[in-house]
Amino acid sequence: MEAHRTDEFARRTQAPGLTVLVAAYNEAEALPLLHPRLQAVLDGLAQDGLSGRVLYVDDGSRDATWTVLQSIAATDARVALLRLSRNFGKEAALTAGLDHVGDDAVLILDADGQDPPELIPQFVAKWREGFDDVHGQRQAREGETWAKRATAHAFYRVIGRLSRTPVPADTGDFRLLSPRAVAALRQLRERNRFMKGLFGWVGFRQVAIPYVRAARSAGQTKFNFWRLWNFAIEGITGFSTAPLRAATYIGLLTALFAFLYAVWVIVKALAWGDPVAGWPTMMVVILFLGGVQLIALGTIGEYLGRLYEEAKQRPLYLVDAWRPARGVSSGQV
Ligand code: UDP
Ligand code: MG
Repeated sequence: MEAHRTDEFARRTQAPGLTVLVAAYNEAEALPLLHPRLQAVLDGLAQDGLSGRVLYVDDGSRDATWTVLQSIAATDARVALLRLSRNFGKEAALTAGLDHVGDDAVLILDADGQDPPELIPQFVAKWREGFDDVHGQRQAREGETWAKRATAHAFYRVIGRLSRTPVPADTGDFRLLSPRAVAALRQLRERNRFMKGLFGWVGFRQVAIPYVRAARSAGQTKFNFWRLWNFAIEGITGFSTAPLRAATYIGLLTALFAFLYAVWVIVKALAWGDPVAGWPTMMVVILFLGGVQLIALGTIGEYLGRLYEEAKQRPLYLVDAWRPARGVSSGQV
């Protein structure tokens, strides 16, 4: 007990460092370009008295990523490596990273150089001003198609409307989190890992830093249209029950309409008799109601499926290898 308390004391009195967290999936070409840029930034921060490290999470890559990472770690004592047992997806990879950074502040960065590491000192300056969540806000996106930009824009507007948790528009995962924000985030173990929403849920003091999102330095994007679509559904179902409510209202509206129409049919039959007609009307009504019911059922199913995933309580990721940074004695990294 006593020993534990002294440990705790030693940890608290030590100023927290900064861990740059990079999730990488098949980034063998991009990582050798990124790391020297990161090194230069960390050297600059070290001169300001901030100890910086890098944690690379290999999200079950199928190319040479792990070998590349090992050679990077061999030459740089500030580098820690984590390898997941398979590809769990970026969100899980980031979660794994956050679980392994100890008491540091964390800066999340894409491996492909789209988030310029040179901006890190600006993020750190905001952190030192007392902000807990400093996020990059994209002013422009280079090298992305018109369609991707338009859908991303639409998505942020929709989720902004639907969700009670604030999800700032046009922010990605490029952000710095203070140690207490990281600790808070670690407590959120839900399977639906829509990180932007989780960051928003945590709250604390947030500030945006505008930046221009560069084009990918090498390799290819892992997010095709289908994956982004699913990502959007994750976001909406994870942070809003508005679709369920919408199903209720659509049901109410159709019921109201059906009653009015029924009254009209009865009045018509009484007043003018009922020659057999109205097959088109009947078909339209049956198909319409069938469609509405299926949509509502599907909506319920989306939530039910997520409930099922949650009920299984599987771990969010499995670790294959963990290699702490050599150059740092304290903390986990
Ligand atoms: N990524 C990952 N696991 C995945 C997919 C992507 O760790 O299953 C990483 C990827 O290596 C990159 C970041 O997530 O560092 C962003 O991916 P990408 O550049 O493909 O997405 P985009 O920038 O096109 O949205
Ligand atoms: Mg990218």
